[in-house]
Amino acid sequence: MEQIKRTKIKDILASAEYEKTVNVKGWVRTRRGNKFVNFIALNDGSSIHNLQIVADVTQFDEELIKRITTGSAISVNGTLKESAGKGQSVEIQATEIEVVGDCNADEYPLQPKKHSLEFLREIAHLRFRTNTFGAIARVRHAMIFAVHSFFSEKGFLNIHTPIITASDAEGAGEMFKVTTMDINNAPKTEEGDVDYSKDFFGKATNLTVSGQLEGELAALAMSEIYTFGPTFRAENSNTTRHLAEFWMIEPEMAFYDLDDNMDLAEEFTKYLLNYALENCMEDLEFLSKRLQEEEKGKKAADQSMELIEKLRFVVDNDYIRLTYTEAIDILMQSKPHKKGKFQYELKGFGSDLQSEHERYLVEKHFKKPVILTDYPMSIKAFYMKQSDDGKTVKAMDVLFPQIGEIIGGSQREESYDKLLERMRAMDLPEEEMSWYLDTRKFGSVPHSGFGLGFERLMLFVTGMGNIRDVIPFPRTPNNAEF
Ligand code: ATP
Ligand code: MN
Repeated sequence: MEQIKRTKIKDILASAEYEKTVNVKGWVRTRRGNKFVNFIALNDGSSIHNLQIVADVTQFDEELIKRITTGSAISVNGTLKESAGKGQSVEIQATEIEVVGDCNADEYPLQPKKHSLEFLREIAHLRFRTNTFGAIARVRHAMIFAVHSFFSEKGFLNIHTPIITASDAEGAGEMFKVTTMDINNAPKTEEGDVDYSKDFFGKATNLTVSGQLEGELAALAMSEIYTFGPTFRAENSNTTRHLAEFWMIEPEMAFYDLDDNMDLAEEFTKYLLNYALENCMEDLEFLSKRLQEEEKGKKAADQSMELIEKLRFVVDNDYIRLTYTEAIDILMQSKPHKKGKFQYELKGFGSDLQSEHERYLVEKHFKKPVILTDYPMSIKAFYMKQSDDGKTVKAMDVLFPQIGEIIGGSQREESYDKLLERMRAMDLPEEEMSWYLDTRKFGSVPHSGFGLGFERLMLFVTGMGNIRDVIPFPRTPNNAEF
C-alpha cells in the first residue's frame, strides 16, 4: 500500500479539497452495500460523525472485503469526493484498503444498534467505541482543558498536592488506607493495635479526600492557586452522584472573602459551560438527542430542559444567593415537607440538607442554580470561618438542577486561636496538624476556596444521568474492573 500521511476524520469532514489523495485510519462501525459497491462507516474518535468510505468491490479482493467487519481496524487510501448521499458532505472513494486489525465478529459484543448504558458499563473496556462514550470522552477532554485555561488566564498557579496523605482531619472513616504491611500478619503494639510505626511511611497513611489543606499552604504565599487531582472517598454510598475515585478542582485564594469566592465559583462554572457550547457543539447536539430519546416515555413534567438550552440558561442567568437559614424557611413552608413527602424529614435549623431538599430549591422553587451560604457550624468542617453570630460559618454550596451539590466551599478561618479552639472542640489531632496551624501564625490572611467535583460537572454538561458514565473507568463499591 502506498504510504500517505494520515489525516484525522474530523479534518477530512471539514475539508473541501476534492480530488485530493488522502489516507485515513480508524475502526469500522458498519459496512453495507451490494456486489458492486460497499459503503463503510469509519470512525477514528476525532468526531461524532463517521466518514463514509465508498469501495467499488469489483476492484478489491473478495476475501479482503469480507474481513472489513464492524469493529475491525482499517487503513484506507483514496480520493476525497463531494458526497451525493445525505447526511455527509464528503466521502472517500477508496483506491487501496488494508485491514490493520481483524475483529473476531463472533465475540465482538458491540453491534451496530443501540445498547443499554447498563450493558455498556459491563464492557467499559470497549464502550469508547460507541457514539455516546466517544462524545463524552471528547467533552471531558474539552472541560479539562477549559479548567486549566480559565485559571491560567486569571494568573492562578496549578499546584500538585499529594495523593497519599497522613492527615485524617477530614472525612474520618471515609478513607482508603495505604499500607505495605501484610494485613494478615501486621506488626502489633504492646496494646495489641496495628503498629503503623513499622509501616512504609512510619505512620498510618490514606488516599487523599481533598487537596485543600495543602492548597491553602500554597495560596498563603502564591496568592491564587488551584489543584486538579484524583480524590478518594470510601463512603459506601451507591448513588448516581458518588464515585469512590473522582477528580476535584480546588482553587484557593488569599485575600478573598466569601462574596469573592461565590463570584469566582459562578464565573468559573459559567466559563466551563460556555466553553462547551463554543467548542463541543456537535457532541452536545448528539448528547441532547440521546437524552430526548431516553426521556420519551416520561411525563412532560418529568422531562428535563433540552440540553443546549439548559446550558445557555445557566450561562445567561445570575445564580440565586441565599443563606441556609432562608433556605430552611422555604423548605419548611414547602408542599413536600408539609405533606411528609421528603424521605429525610427536616427539623429546622441544624438539619443537614439532603439532595432531595437541594433539588427542590433549585428545580421547583427557584428554577435556577442556587448558592447557599452561612451553614450551621455543627454540620460543616473545622476550617470554615466562624461568623459573629456564634452558630454559623462562612460556607457556600453551589447547587445545580439535576445534580444537587456541584461545589462545596468556604471562607477559611484565619485566626489561629479560633481555629485551634474549633479543632480541640472537634477532637482533631493538633500535633499532627501543626503544619496547617503554622500558616495562621506566620502572616495569616483572610482566604477562601472551594471544590468542584469534575464528574458532577460532567453530568450536567453531558446530560447523563449516572456518574459511572462520565468517567472512563468508574470506581464504586464492588466495582474496580478494567
Ligand atoms: P455530597 O454531600 O454530595 O456527598 P460532599 O459534601 O461530601 O458532597 P465535598 O466534600 O464538599 O462534598 O466535596 C466537594 C465536591 O466534590 C462536591 O461538591 C461534589 O461536587 C464533589 N464530590 C464529593 N463527593 C463526591 C463523590 N463521592 N463522587 C463524586 N464527586 C464528589
Ligand atoms: Mn459526600
